[in-house]
Parts: sequence; structure tokens; C-alpha cells
Amino acid sequence: MQENSDETEEGRRPSSALRAPSPRERGEGQDIAIIGGGIIGICAATYLTEAGRNVTIFDRTGICEETSSGNAAAFAFTDVLPLAHKGMVRQLPKWLADPLGPLPIPPAYLPKLLPWLIRFWRAGRGARYETSLAAQAAMMRLAEAEWMGLLDRSGTRPMLREDGSLELYESEAEFRASLSGWAARERYGIGFNHVEGAEMAALQPGLSPRFIKATFVPGWKTVSDPKLLGKAVWAHAARLGARFEHALVARIVGGADGATIVLADGSTRKANQLVIAAGAWSHLLARDLGERIPLETERGYNTTLPKAAFDVRRQLIFSGHGFVITPLETGLRVGGAVELGGIERPPNFARSKAMLEKARRFLPGLDPSGGREWMGYRPSLPDSLPVIGRARAPNTFYAFGHGHLGLTQAAATGRLIRDLVLGQAPPVGLAPFSPQRF
Ligand SMILES: Cc1cc2nc3c(=O)[nH]c(=O)nc-3n(C[C@H](O)[C@H](O)[C@H](O)COP(=O)(O)OP(=O)(O)OC[C@H]3O[C@@H](n4cnc5c(N)ncnc54)[C@H](O)[C@@H]3O)c2cc1C
Repeated sequence: MQENSDETEEGRRPSSALRAPSPRERGEGQDIAIIGGGIIGICAATYLTEAGRNVTIFDRTGICEETSSGNAAAFAFTDVLPLAHKGMVRQLPKWLADPLGPLPIPPAYLPKLLPWLIRFWRAGRGARYETSLAAQAAMMRLAEAEWMGLLDRSGTRPMLREDGSLELYESEAEFRASLSGWAARERYGIGFNHVEGAEMAALQPGLSPRFIKATFVPGWKTVSDPKLLGKAVWAHAARLGARFEHALVARIVGGADGATIVLADGSTRKANQLVIAAGAWSHLLARDLGERIPLETERGYNTTLPKAAFDVRRQLIFSGHGFVITPLETGLRVGGAVELGGIERPPNFARSKAMLEKARRFLPGLDPSGGREWMGYRPSLPDSLPVIGRARAPNTFYAFGHGHLGLTQAAATGRLIRDLVLGQAPPVGLAPFSPQRF
């Protein structure tokens, strides 16, 4: 691959006197370009580099600087329910009526969004729902196994927190409405424990008395900070020879012998194989290759408070309000929400403030001052499953659309992309994730 000689700090490697030659320097492997340096691109690059391939990530901002940098840090391996499930559809009228609620849609965006919403609603019904659930459960088993392996190989296991999550309910009715979802999870062997009273208070002291019950999920894990984890995994890949080029990709041109990447400055790069892992912008690149993939963005908001804001013992989930509170090594992150507003509209940080105000009521004593607000773009397909597979164009692969679960499923996606590129049989069936399923 033709390349720039000066790398950014992200991609800089130790001097050749101090390290073993990389696969590229040994002249092994093929050139693979990955567009997107979020957690999906990082993991794809890591697995391919570990397999001896010469990999370059192209990103307009940096390594783990966009959506993957500010998420809620959950390894949500037990979160197998497709988003369009009955419980959620039941909540829709209440949520849509509240402009600062968990699911706002700017009215002007509604006509553009309608086809995606119709697909989303259909995905929540009958056999399609069961297919998505089974696919997600298989993916999550792989996700957990692959992350545990990758944490060890990259020396990042100390960044893992294994203290579970606590989902909270304000009424008997809300608790009862959650039971069908728990029963579905139980069918896939997911452990949980409904708690109340002293048991609930011991799992999280200082909760408002408005919460009458909770579900503790011991298998839920979080990481100490998603941005730091992404950068640390990348450092492992870079040590093995993966490279980074700071550039905006303007367009791509497919070809039988590989892809041509046209950068915004007009220069071009040639790659034998191409992986598109550009998060919420991936469909724009797929369009260059003649494929229309119904990718939307579910914009999410949060505020990261100083660590001392409250002693939160594990991730707290307020499903009825569409947000979570995560204790990080770097602060206390309060946020969530789903704003179906596209990739152009400016952020509306009134949403972060609304969630923070609720958090203050739910945890009396929480200090809401000194926070940093953030918005990210969840890349989402209507059936809540990512796109992982071959593009119609030769030598091109897609790895995007992980919605709420990109951090959780990143290592599994890296593994699957490696298997596809190497022509090896993947450990899970890829039909439910096919780019051509729509
Ligand atoms: C509020 C919120 C909370 C979340 N919480 C969790 C959680 O707890 N657990 C979980 O598993 N997931 C969570 N997610 C989802 C998760 O963050 C995403 O699924 C994941 O970050 C997507 O990763 P990605 O690599 O696909 O995309 P990104 O991180 O967005 O990376 C894509 C990259 O592509 C680059 N790019 C795009 N187009 C181009 C171009 N033309 N040229 C060059 N570069 C380009 C961008 O600069 C970007 O860096 C959350 C998301 C939000 C918003």
C-alpha cells in the first residue's frame, strides 16, 4: 500500500533497534486497509495483525476518539434482547411524547426516518424477533470469549470490572413488565437475581426510596474507561506492526484486484483488501460500492462527573428512563437516551442535563457539578444486529452497525472479520449479520 512516511503519535512505533521486525518489514502478508479507528476498526486491525497481515487504519480524527470514546463502558454480554422488543414498543407512546425523554425524534427528521422505523417495528415481531434473539445470544457467547482472550493478549485485563449491574424499578407494574424479557434471557442461560429491601440497598447504598425492586445481573461487566481501553488495545496492535493514517476518506472505488481509497486531499491509497468499520458513517462508503444499507444513528448523550460525585458500586440501569450510571476509573458517567436525529444535526445537550437531573433525584446526595457533556452516534440497523460480512464488491468486508453494543461485540467482530479475510470458517453462523439481508 502506498503510504505517508510520517505517522501520527497514535501510530508511532519504537525505533527499529528496540523491536522485532513487523510482518510488513518481513514482507509477509497482504495489505489491508481499515476505514475507521473506533473500537470495531481497532479490534479488526488487532486480529488481522496478530494473524500476520499488514494493516493500516484510516481515520479522520484518531484512534478511539469518536463514539467508541465516550460510551457507557459496559461489556453487556447478557444483553441479548433485540431493541424492538415488546416491552420497548409498549413504552414508545410515553417516550415519544416527551421531548427530553429517552427516545425523541426531531419532527423534521421523521419522513427520512420512517422506512427505518417500519423495519424496526417489523423486527420486533414473531419469528424475526426470535431469529435476532438467537443470533444475538450466539454472538454474545463469542463476544465474551473473544474479549477475555484479547484482554489477556493485549495486557488490558486490569481494565475489566466484574461487579455486575443493577436494573431498578419504580413500581410493581414496571417490574412485572420486565419479567418476559428476563424469561427470554433465562432460556439462553443468563443468570440474574431479583432483589429488594436490604439486599437491594447492600448492592447500591443511597438509592432513592422510589425504587422498590431491582434485578442484579452478576455476569454484566464494565471497563475502567472505554477510550483508554481502545487506545491500549491499539497500542498492542501497533507493537505488532499495525499502522495508522490520519485522513478523511472521501470515497472508495472497488476493483477486482483491490480497492482504491481516495482521501480528502485528493491523494489515493491502494489496498488488496478493505474493511469498512466507519461506525455511523459506514453506509455512506458502502454507497460508493453500490450497496444501500439501512444504517441509522441512535444519538446518545451523557455527562461524566468527577469520581467523587457519588459512590456507585456497579453499573446502575434505569430502563424506564433510558439511561445508566457507570462508575469509571476516570469519573462517574451518567447517560444514555436514543435520539433518532441523523448525523448532521447539532447536539442538544438539554438531554444530558435532563438525565443528570433525574440521576440527582434517583441518588439523593449525588453532586451534579463539574461534569463534561458528550454526544455519540450509535450506528444502528433496524433489527439490532450488526453488519458483519462480505460486500458485493470483491475483497471488501463490512464491520459496522453495532448500535448499543459496539464495545461489547468488538473483539468478536475482529475475530469474525479475520476469519472472513483468511477464508476460515467462522465460529457462529453469519447469515443473520449479512450485509445483504435487508
Ligand atoms: C451514549 C452511548 C452509550 C453507549 N454505551 C455502550 C456500552 O455501554 N456498551 C457497548 O457495548 N456499546 C455502547 N455504546 C455503543 C458503542 O459506543 C458503539 O456501538 C461503538 O462505539 C461503535 O464503534 P465503531 O468503531 O463502529 O464506531 P466509531 O467509534 O464511531 O468509529 C468510527 C470511526 O470511523 C471514522 N470515520 C467515519 N467516516 C470516516 C471517513 N470517511 N474517513 C475517515 N474516518 C472515518 C470516525 O472518525 C470514527 O473514528 C454506546 C453508545 C452511546 C452513544
